[in-house]
Amino acid sequence: MAPQREWFETDYYKVLGVAQDASEKELTRAYRKLAKQFHPDANPGAEERFKEISAAYDVLGDPQKRKEYDEVRRVGAAGAGFGQAGQGGFNFKVDDLSDLFGGRFRQPSGGTRRRTGTAAAPRRGADLEAELHLSFEEAIEGVVTSVNVRSNAACATCGGSGAKPGTTPVVCPRCGGRGVLDDNQGLFSLSAPCPECHGRGTKITDPCPTCFGTGVQRRERQVKVRIPPGVDDGQRIKVKGRGEAGANGGPAGDLFVVVSVAPHPVFGRHGKDLTITVPVTFPEAALGATITVPSLGKPVHLKVPPGTKTGKTLRVRGRGIEHGGTSGDLLVTIDVVVPTTLSDAQRKAVEALAKASPGSPRAHLEL
Ligand SMILES: [Zn+2]
Ligand SMILES: [Zn+2]
Repeated sequence: MAPQREWFETDYYKVLGVAQDASEKELTRAYRKLAKQFHPDANPGAEERFKEISAAYDVLGDPQKRKEYDEVRRVGAAGAGFGQAGQGGFNFKVDDLSDLFGGRFRQPSGGTRRRTGTAAAPRRGADLEAELHLSFEEAIEGVVTSVNVRSNAACATCGGSGAKPGTTPVVCPRCGGRGVLDDNQGLFSLSAPCPECHGRGTKITDPCPTCFGTGVQRRERQVKVRIPPGVDDGQRIKVKGRGEAGANGGPAGDLFVVVSVAPHPVFGRHGKDLTITVPVTFPEAALGATITVPSLGKPVHLKVPPGTKTGKTLRVRGRGIEHGGTSGDLLVTIDVVVPTTLSDAQRKAVEALAKASPGSPRAHLEL
């Protein structure tokens, strides 16, 4: 009979309150006592408990089934490497035996089906991170560049085999190169990773002097990256498959490039908008003017309306940063400049302005 999921989850010995080496007689006695105690006729509400007791005795009361049950529990605890062997406690839930054993069970008849033990299972490489410093313009226009990445890579001396150049790994004598060992005793034919070669199927007799037989070396390599236009400071760009190499044929991890953008002497950024602060004279602010403002491309001619205050921001649509097919705006902040020194002519003009401006702008603040 096929082992059932509940065999892993339920300790039938515990249910019947007997030791694992209890005799058939002891089992039957324990069952009868409990069955009487929890019989639904005498004890309404105890159906679940009664069912449990019946199920336990169903298996343990049959010597053949009991043998299979014991075997499944033993294999589940020891063979799979989890569960608490000897504690009788199985704290995991499984929906399917193949889930639990990662496909390591083989049908007793399926002798030709080869499975690799979990030790040699494909493993995805780790994700890596690299920092990339860009100028303001590079970040806006995009750039193709390369980053240095330090990670585990196949050893350059031995090409990743771990064997000293000129020598080759030999076929593992214990498993004959299969990487797994079969344990044919008992109910199942279970394949476990070969302890001699750790599932690789080969053994290194002369280890590589560079990597000491591991086949792995910490190396710096250059990865070419394409930075799209419009990236911002602190942005992470994923370069798929350029992280650490996978093991046993597993896929490589990803590389994440963290962009650090240098500030610009004139421009700032606010998302896709380009910002700039432009000084204007008092007459320009008061009378209005058309001023020339630098932008990423050609300079922009901007109309400053009469009476523009300092700190006022004027928007030039579409002259910001291009990203994802659209452009941000150029945000021009007006800074009205107060001269620190005045020529005689300027002083006379300002004094004349003062005379012509009798009202105080602080009138509303006076008590
Ligand atoms: Zn090596
Ligand atoms: Zn082996």
